[in-house]
Amino acid sequence: MKLHRVLLFLGILGHLGTAVALPRHAPVPGGIAVIDLGPASQQAPSARLGEQPLAVVKEQGRWYALLGIPLDTLPGEMEIAVSGGSTAGIRTVNIGIKNYPEQRLTIKDKRKVEPNPDDLARIEREKAVTEAVKRHFSSHAPATDFLLPASGPLSSRFGLRRIFNGQPRNPHAGLDVAVGTGAPIRAPADGIVANTGDYFFNGNTVFIDHGQGLISAYMHLSRIDVRPGQTVKKGELLGAVGATGRVTGPHLHWAVILNNTPVDPELFLARP
Ligand SMILES: [Zn+2]
Repeated sequence: MKLHRVLLFLGILGHLGTAVALPRHAPVPGGIAVIDLGPASQQAPSARLGEQPLAVVKEQGRWYALLGIPLDTLPGEMEIAVSGGSTAGIRTVNIGIKNYPEQRLTIKDKRKVEPNPDDLARIEREKAVTEAVKRHFSSHAPATDFLLPASGPLSSRFGLRRIFNGQPRNPHAGLDVAVGTGAPIRAPADGIVANTGDYFFNGNTVFIDHGQGLISAYMHLSRIDVRPGQTVKKGELLGAVGATGRVTGPHLHWAVILNNTPVDPELFLARP
């Protein structure tokens, strides 16, 4: 009988576990600071990092700001400005150290590592488009309990310091799932398709706006099954895995952006 009660209790905890929607607090470069802004009985506060607004979500009766921390942040203090609610003012977040491993890759298509002048012009045009998508702040509150968007083992993790064909390039700003061409990619949470396109480095790409600057992206697709402006539900098909753009083979590159900052997507997944 007692065991039964314990199991029942654990069962309820399990349900609560899935209901807890906050990402993991990881105040390091490439991580997320989850900042308590007081009881949700008060009006919703707003929070900013400089000019960039932050997501503020309600969880278990409290408001929390979600601060995406850029990968190039040095250890020390970051300040956010909070207005409204019971904790208005400047809040200081202590940023710790995280050392990401190095990864060396060989890309057969040399133009993807050393683009020609036409490629560079294209890359600049594409950057202007994707930067605007990543900066966008829509008003609706995001759901942050994400599903892994493809079924497969996690391969290259977020934050790897990358060397392509012996040349240092930008760090790995997403999480790779090792799955073959044609495997389905599903929305990890509700959102609106913000952009689709075929980009020089990222190949066929879908961006989903989950709300308040929480944006996710799916890259190197072989097929895109959604169009911009379309509403998608958690689990809905977005497209299929492929090997378009700068890749060593088929896989899903999944990026998650908060306040215009790529963060570790694993922080949004339930711990195994
Ligand atoms: Zn990747």
